[in-house]
Amino acid sequence: MKIICVGRNYADHIKELDNNRPEQPVLFMKPDSAVILKNNPIIIPTFSSDIHYEVELLVKINKIGKHIDRNFAPDYYSEIGLGIDFTARDLQTELKTKGLPWERAKAFDGSAMIGQFVDKKTLGNLEALDFSMQKNGQTVQRGNTQDMLWKIDELIEYISKYFTLKIGDIIFTGTPSGVGPVSHGDHLVGFVNNQEFFSLKVK
Ligand code: ZN
Repeated sequence: MKIICVGRNYADHIKELDNNRPEQPVLFMKPDSAVILKNNPIIIPTFSSDIHYEVELLVKINKIGKHIDRNFAPDYYSEIGLGIDFTARDLQTELKTKGLPWERAKAFDGSAMIGQFVDKKTLGNLEALDFSMQKNGQTVQRGNTQDMLWKIDELIEYISKYFTLKIGDIIFTGTPSGVGPVSHGDHLVGFVNNQEFFSLKVK
């Protein structure tokens, strides 16, 4: 199982990090060792003093495919979820400045929080899905899939040009604005259309 993440897929988050709008999706990966095990907390790693949450809508691949046309992309996923792309922002900034790969900042143990998945048919229009996250009871991020620069089906077409998608692979589709740091004792709760998809403690 692999995790393919999309960076800079919401215009307001690009502005917030002072990045340029890309001409093509920005892709990076996380290994399966990045996944936080069920009901476990995120443990803040010692190598960073600025771990950020990024709440993102997730797509689970249910059929093997390569060079998937966007019109057939819906056949390759039946479940949608919600998760967090944890990022060591201090380290990422350093790596970005040096033009180096992001893995140490984005793919470390515990950097992928994967909440529950539901049948996409229960969610209605996937191009107008509302999702949000609360930190300690306060909403810190809110997004809607209609603001994605690349929609789910376009992402699947693009990703599958480079990487064969396999059953169980998960796509992190990018974060809206509002990213921020976590500290010990924080409680993060994620929602899609006001339905709770995860609840996570920070240790
Ligand atoms: Zn992200």
